[in-house]
Amino acid sequence: MKPKLEVCGVSYSYHTPDGETPALSHISFTVPTGEFLAIVGPSGCGKSTLLSLLCGLIEPEEGSVLMDGIPIKEGHAGIGYMLQKDHLFEWRTIYGNVSLGLEIQKKLDDQAHNHLKEMLAAYGLNGFETAHPSELSGGMRQRAALIRTLALKPDLLLLDEPFSALDYQTRLSVCDDISSIIRRTGKTAILITHDLSEAISTADRIIILSRRPGKIKAVLPIDFPPEYASPLKRRNAGEFSSYFNQVWELLQDNFLTKDIEK
Ligand code: ADP
Ligand code: MG
Repeated sequence: MKPKLEVCGVSYSYHTPDGETPALSHISFTVPTGEFLAIVGPSGCGKSTLLSLLCGLIEPEEGSVLMDGIPIKEGHAGIGYMLQKDHLFEWRTIYGNVSLGLEIQKKLDDQAHNHLKEMLAAYGLNGFETAHPSELSGGMRQRAALIRTLALKPDLLLLDEPFSALDYQTRLSVCDDISSIIRRTGKTAILITHDLSEAISTADRIIILSRRPGKIKAVLPIDFPPEYASPLKRRNAGEFSSYFNQVWELLQDNFLTKDIEK
């Protein structure tokens, strides 16, 4: 099968009046269709920069990013993203928010309205169509943001620390909800996070980045027995702590490298 996404030798630096900040260096990986990939790395290592490159918001200085074999451009159809902040518009109702993308694309027909209503019901937001975002809990807001993203039927979902603004308990249950929704719909997804447990409990594979400029340090396939299908169940599996220790050690090494550089 052709990969959904190919990242080939990508490097990127920020140029400011104070000088150059290399953010990413020679990143290459491919993502097969339907994979749930997690990318972890220390704060400031270039994770959000990588996400901006993957959705075409910025262009690589070196290398290329291809989706279905075609170079990614800003506004590339078929890519949806979810960020740390839900970016819901407070003055619009929940229905007004989830339908916004379709409204802008002039695709808000009867079929689209039905699809939105089905998703609102399936994801526990039935009855909140006329509520405003401020009336919803953090978890409900994130689900509304996910519906807004899924409404555009993206093939590839890019998630940049989407749960980190939530309190711990909400975070566990929203992560469980959202990742099972993504699995059920068969999307290809890339989750960027600094939370190792979140990565291990959701992903098929984890890419570990080094400190800035981010380079790929290791790629770890994650495999749980089928009875541990959901993120919450994975956290209770025997394999979980051994994966955690492996990723932890790989990241720990980053801290040592930095200490030696000092
Ligand atoms: P992460 O998401 O892993 O925390 P980022 O991709 O946001 O990291 O940033 C990587 C590095 O690039 C950081 O050192 C950050 O300070 C720098 N950086 C990010 N955005 C800009 C920008 N717009 N201008 C200059 N430097 C930036
Ligand atoms: Mg970031």
